[in-house]
Amino acid sequence: MKQYDAIVIGGGPAGMTAALYLLRAGVKTAMIEKLSPGGQVLMTEKIENYPGFPDGLEGWQLADFFQKQLDLYPHDTISDEVRSIKVGSPYHEISVGDEVVQAKSIILCSGARYRKLGIPGEQEMIGRGVSYCALCDGNFYRDKTVAVVGGGNSALEESLYLARLVKKLYLIHRREEFRGALCYQNKCFTHERIEVVRNAVVEEIVGENEVTGVAIKDVNTGENKVLDVDGAFIFVGFEPILDFVPEDVEREPNGILTDNEMLTNVPGIFAAGDIRSKLCRQVATAVGDGATAATSAFAYLEQLED
Ligand code: NAP
Repeated sequence: MKQYDAIVIGGGPAGMTAALYLLRAGVKTAMIEKLSPGGQVLMTEKIENYPGFPDGLEGWQLADFFQKQLDLYPHDTISDEVRSIKVGSPYHEISVGDEVVQAKSIILCSGARYRKLGIPGEQEMIGRGVSYCALCDGNFYRDKTVAVVGGGNSALEESLYLARLVKKLYLIHRREEFRGALCYQNKCFTHERIEVVRNAVVEEIVGENEVTGVAIKDVNTGENKVLDVDGAFIFVGFEPILDFVPEDVEREPNGILTDNEMLTNVPGIFAAGDIRSKLCRQVATAVGDGATAATSAFAYLEQLED
């Protein structure tokens, strides 16, 4: 059975930063990522708020820079899905694909997956008009009409991307105020192809074999109507990916609980990035979490040696 001092689970910005710091500190580290390294960054067209790039850069480019820097330091990469973790001492056991590997420390960086609305028609029409990724599916809606649901940064940013392609976009939010950044709000509210629909909840995705509309209800008046659309893009937040995380690891509805040093309640298990319970989910904060978690893991490993 392969043994490591540290295993990083998840190859987004948090995971790649954690691995980089561990490898630079000389820690025998493996990285587990089931898909391409980059995480959600790969689904982002342009990143404008990661410091150091005043003109912004495309998501894939940033992921590529992270990977190139990481590859300067030899390490094992396991390209498979983590099934479970068995807590132990000093080694924890990780089942990944068909193998089991051991590590004295683990940094959980598996991020988050998009949240669903859970309304009729949504699940049935995924891939037939319902989407959670503008960059992946936007092109199918050139010169068509789409709805975007949500009021956070994702909904606003993705609306601005989609508005460059579509004929018309309804931006539907369940209340008056949007929680996304003011700079995105201003751009959306003044965009000629975006119609903002406030105080409305989407109750159903309408269509037989493909989306033909969204049924909305005005939360103030109770009025119901169907907006005719060819596609519905849903950006109502993310849920941490915890499927393989052992019950021993303490969590809140919003993610894994850590202290300021990214340590969970289980010795040797750390968490970084969007999997954590926290408010600010940005590439910049994921990177900070990753660096902190790696530093804490290094200190933990040194303590084990003593
Ligand atoms: P978010 O900030 O949690 O916003 C989710 C939005 O969906 C909120 O407006 C929420 O409404 C709405 N919503 C939630 N459940 C709903 C439901 N059942 N029905 C209708 N609407 C619902 O999620 P996010 O926009 O995906 O962003 C996630 C994190 O990533 C945030 O920290 C965000 O700042 C960050 N992010 C940053 C950038 C950037 O900096 N460029 C880009 C994307 C994401 P309420 O407001 O009423 O709760």
